[in-house]
Amino acid sequence: MDLKSLIRDIPDFPKPGILFRDITTLLRNPEGLRSTIDTLAEKCADFSVDFVIGMESRGFIFGAPLAYRLGAGFIPVRKPGKLPAAVHAIEYELEYGMDRLEVHQDALHPPDCRILIVDDVIATGGTAAATAKLVEQSGCQLVGFAFVIELKALAGRDRLPDVPIVTLIEY
Ligand code: AMP
Repeated sequence: MDLKSLIRDIPDFPKPGILFRDITTLLRNPEGLRSTIDTLAEKCADFSVDFVIGMESRGFIFGAPLAYRLGAGFIPVRKPGKLPAAVHAIEYELEYGMDRLEVHQDALHPPDCRILIVDDVIATGGTAAATAKLVEQSGCQLVGFAFVIELKALAGRDRLPDVPIVTLIEY
């Protein structure tokens, strides 16, 4: 299925100069949504994943159904102040300033934790690299990344640890 044809390009969103790859048009297409999750699940089937981690918020949309298909659990990584129990946090650099991601302390505990990190888009790779650090600090094993879209010109994969990276659509 031609998933790329279901992605909508929005120029100058959220600020001038950014070409935003809008996945909502893919999500509202029943065959497109099913094909996206099924293909990610096929490509990740051999990773023996115990838990999928999805980053707020579009990582939740793809991460939870992918976890279901892989027979894994789902763990949300969230913006500060959203998770109710004790958290581990990681700070990371944005283009301007810093950002912070949090995960529940009791969500990640070795040894039975082979982790797949999932998001809609890998752009600079900063968000995924920070999430990978949270996983590494917990002692769990990061077994791969899965992204629906890769923006290759930004070379985000160069910032990620050396584990398999699954992507479906490249720009
Ligand atoms: P990154 O630069 O890899 O840390 O990207 C952070 C997040 O921003 C990703 O999870 C995407 O959801 C979003 N993002 C960055 N660039 C784009 C883009 N051009 N179109 C759509 N989403 C984007």
